Amino acid sequence: MNDWRVTLHIGFDDIDSQFNGCTTHFTYNVVRELLKSVDVEFIDYPNLVRLNPSIPFKTRGNGAVALRISVPKDCEELIIKLIRNMLESYVSSYEDGGGCEPGLAVIVGDVPEILNKLYVKALTDYVHIDYVRNVMNEVRNLILPIGISRGVIGALAAIGWTQNSDCTYELIAYRGLINGSSRCVDKESVKEVDLKYGDYVFNNYDYEGDVMLITPHGYDPVLLGIRGEDPEVLIKYFKELKICEDLSGYMVFRSNQGTDSHLIKRDLDEVRTYRTLCVEVSLKSKPTILRGGDIIVKINDNPPLYSIFYKETSLPREVRKLNIGDEVIICGSVKQWSDLTNVINVEKIFVKERIRIYERNPICPHCGKRMTSAGTNKGFKCKRCGFRTKDLSKEVIKVVEDVGKSYITNIRAMKHLTKPPRRYGRERRCNFVKPINHWIYSV
Ligand SMILES: [Zn+2]
Repeated sequence: MNDWRVTLHIGFDDIDSQFNGCTTHFTYNVVRELLKSVDVEFIDYPNLVRLNPSIPFKTRGNGAVALRISVPKDCEELIIKLIRNMLESYVSSYEDGGGCEPGLAVIVGDVPEILNKLYVKALTDYVHIDYVRNVMNEVRNLILPIGISRGVIGALAAIGWTQNSDCTYELIAYRGLINGSSRCVDKESVKEVDLKYGDYVFNNYDYEGDVMLITPHGYDPVLLGIRGEDPEVLIKYFKELKICEDLSGYMVFRSNQGTDSHLIKRDLDEVRTYRTLCVEVSLKSKPTILRGGDIIVKINDNPPLYSIFYKETSLPREVRKLNIGDEVIICGSVKQWSDLTNVINVEKIFVKERIRIYERNPICPHCGKRMTSAGTNKGFKCKRCGFRTKDLSKEVIKVVEDVGKSYITNIRAMKHLTKPPRRYGRERRCNFVKPINHWIYSV
């Protein structure tokens, strides 16, 4: 790279509140402005970085964004100022004052490794603001144009998503006018196009429930989001949809969605509230079916730890036949009940071994034939030689079945980060990816 240019990594988070705005929409505005006004080169698609879905005060999606651009050195200050001004005016347009704590962070030059660690922590654990303060003290090339806020955690974590892990793409289109909460997108066209592109896309249509999943339902500016493996396919997909309302434009993001990157292997003694994980256990209780159809299973005695399979995940019908002693790997996020017991909300379960206990009558000690019951409390009798006894008891037979089968939350209840079945085997290592033509479009 020329020494008169410099790389900026710009992170945003928490720019959405419940009814207004949206972090990706703000990003879309910023990118349009950057492309318009200065000599900016995008060295990657905007990154849509999903973070720990179990953190309670975050909006459901918990997505932060990072931009990675190369700019002339003498434009650096101008660009940062432009973004800060845009952020301030975007947030001040919220009618309800927002209720968010927007975060904006800029790294000049290379991303330090400590931000990669922060990303992993923000993806899989609870991050305390003091931890972030320590990180910030160690990073020299950091600029915080609007100071420290809760949103800075996500903004820095998004910048830290640089470790060549698996990635996917999402094309997000924005509404021209926010005219009510329902979007005018022809469902049949979504179904048709989704079938056409098959394995190149995922989680866009629920064929079982016959529901399109690309349109949200709130008053935010997102018209639709299409998820898939390849930016070019997503753009074609979008162009083939029948959309019957005004469009502002679209932009393609690179993302950690659909990669399972939050499901890291942990030991039982590493289980803490709000962590995401996969943990290998043998079941300590039979499944208990709760009213409403959820299922709960005890997976550790001391300290007590449970796993819950919610009805809407469709997992209960797969796990109801499990038994004490079964060897499984449970993946999900740890929540805490009001009595402070930890419980894992299960996203995936891999059944390794199933233990089946059978009982059968004993063998006759004289002739070797299997005996029959002589009646209640009367012991056993042998039909061949007539031997009777009350001293023998039934044989207990323990059969260990190798199962090797995994069960995954159904598509409607799936979290953004959860890897859907059709992505298995499609994992790859992604680095920064130079955007193709037409990665952003505005009317
Ligand atoms: Zn006998």
